Amino acid sequence: MARACRYMRPVMTEQFKIRLPDGSVREVAPGTTPADVAAAIGPGLAKAALAARVNGEVRDINRPLEGDSELALITARDEADALELVRHDYAHILAEAVQNLFPGTQITFGPATDDGFYYDFAPAPERGPFTEEDLPAIEEEMRRIIARDEPLVREVWSREDVRRLFVEQGESFKAEWVMELPEHETITMYRSGGWIDLCRGPHLASTGKVDPQAFKLTRVSGAYWRGDQKNAMLSRIYGTGWLNKKQLDAHLVRIEEALKRDHRRIGQDMGLFHLQAEAHGSVFWHPAGFVVWRQLEAYLRRRLDSAGYEEVKTPQVMDARQWEQSGHWGKYRENMFVIPDEVPNTEEEGPIISGEGDWMALKPMNCPAHILIFRQGIKSYRDLPIRLAEMGVCHRNEPHGALHGILRVRQFTQDDAHIFCREDQLVEEVRLFLDLLDTVYKDLGFPDYQIKLALRPEKRFGSEEMWDWSEQSLRDAVKAAGRDTAEFGWAELPGEGAFYAPKLEFHLTDAIGRTWQVGTIQTDTVLPERLDASYVAEDGQRHRPVMLHRAILGSFERFIGILIEHHAGRFPLWLAPVQAVVATIVSDADDYAHEVAARLAAAGLRVETDLRNEKINYKVREHSLAKVPNLLVVGKREAEEGTVALRPLGEGARQEVLGLDEVVERLAKEALPPDLR
Ligand SMILES: [Zn+2]
Ligand SMILES: [Zn+2]
Repeated sequence: MARACRYMRPVMTEQFKIRLPDGSVREVAPGTTPADVAAAIGPGLAKAALAARVNGEVRDINRPLEGDSELALITARDEADALELVRHDYAHILAEAVQNLFPGTQITFGPATDDGFYYDFAPAPERGPFTEEDLPAIEEEMRRIIARDEPLVREVWSREDVRRLFVEQGESFKAEWVMELPEHETITMYRSGGWIDLCRGPHLASTGKVDPQAFKLTRVSGAYWRGDQKNAMLSRIYGTGWLNKKQLDAHLVRIEEALKRDHRRIGQDMGLFHLQAEAHGSVFWHPAGFVVWRQLEAYLRRRLDSAGYEEVKTPQVMDARQWEQSGHWGKYRENMFVIPDEVPNTEEEGPIISGEGDWMALKPMNCPAHILIFRQGIKSYRDLPIRLAEMGVCHRNEPHGALHGILRVRQFTQDDAHIFCREDQLVEEVRLFLDLLDTVYKDLGFPDYQIKLALRPEKRFGSEEMWDWSEQSLRDAVKAAGRDTAEFGWAELPGEGAFYAPKLEFHLTDAIGRTWQVGTIQTDTVLPERLDASYVAEDGQRHRPVMLHRAILGSFERFIGILIEHHAGRFPLWLAPVQAVVATIVSDADDYAHEVAARLAAAGLRVETDLRNEKINYKVREHSLAKVPNLLVVGKREAEEGTVALRPLGEGARQEVLGLDEVVERLAKEALPPDLR
């Protein structure tokens, strides 16, 4: 009987085959929803399921299955998907709340973001843009909507019906938008109670599925309709949204902690640097800040010297023809500072441009100049590898809006180097770099970092063989260094490589759990070809070297910004601008304070004295605010006994009375840079 059925046309209603992630297959009737499947599996899952992934696409839990499908139910455990869903719901609820409270407000768009959501509104003209004072009332209304637990219902509409509805409701932005949706797109509206929005979805089953205590509206700003400044200015309300209150609280603590650590504020408080509009995106380093820079640079230089690098210095400005040859002129010109090649002229008419089309440009990177050095003289296979390092000052013309303190600037100094090697040396060179980078990150207080391999992008130069080989070489090197492990967050990122080569990226984890991409190493066979770099191989023929572009810190500016935020301004002793302050309790101890300071300075410490006629508690407070790592308090008794009271920063009032020799010895030892200990 069963055999026969295989050859018969099914007469009963056709069943859909639903394959679940564990490989099991269920047959369900048309009209079945993922929620039904969840209920059939068990009541626990039915309750936990927020949405469904159907053939890879996230869909509403109550949207009927349309045919044979791969189905995975999404619960709060699938955190990334769940967060995206709840954030979209919060945005939707925000929009409904605003329209409830402020009739006449038009809705536009409201996506989920990395930590929450926003929604752009066109407030009624008579009321003007929203302000932060409006936020508490809106939050309250959102909680009312959540408490009502209205089903969020997906409806398929015709374009014309949507347009008519929004025109009737005076929603001109939505009416405009729906007419521009792609021809064949299914147009969906989401309804919750009496409120309706044009939306692709997906959403949770009802407004009550989000946690009323797990969101917070954070700020308002202006935003142009469709991001174009020729269009109307809208009022954007931002919020942060999470799966539960615990997550929200942790996020708010992180934000507060990040604000306290803001390098711009600490930089100002500690007198490290400043920025001003006359030099947009270039940093004015003050003496205290440049101490940090110099220490970092000197440390890195010692590490590079012992790792077999040779340091060079190359021109700041080069002819446009050079940049044309390297390919930067074609690909990168809009980010370059270009200057006319003027001939100095002593006559009254001022400088003249030497000839038509003569242009020069500030270097946006050091690579071509390093090839020009490599090309000087004939190189043999025995000369390789050649590792050329440069603390290279580069300029890139970034839009003002993209700049951020010293983290994103227009003039920056890379800890750059290029390694020219033979193909058979590549894996070992990358492995050596991985070891050097590991040492440097640990020395600088970043024991946790992640390694990612960015693979070939869709648009790329070079043959598939070149890509296969380069990617595999980088993989092999990470493996050889023993870092292709979960501890190093080892992962491959398809499509994220540069257009000419794959690269390894290094992401530091800071003290409050944020990650920062700083270091990189990438293989390159394109630039040596373009700029005709070659060496004489064992076979007597000219071969192209492989070029490795690599940086450990990325740029000094950005890395010091990260160090400031990571340490909250409390630099390790060897990097601190001032390492010790000798403060007097009474003026009788002034001479002795000078003697103590002189002894510390002679031992190589950066030391200052504070002889002001102020209470010692006042001095202690002030120097700890300035994050001075060690305060040495001296009074009459210390002067007589040849001792000092040592108060390290951050250990409350705990102080230790020590003999002068002992203090000098201890601090001098603690202040040694990590590579000299
Ligand atoms: Zn929506
Ligand atoms: Zn380079």
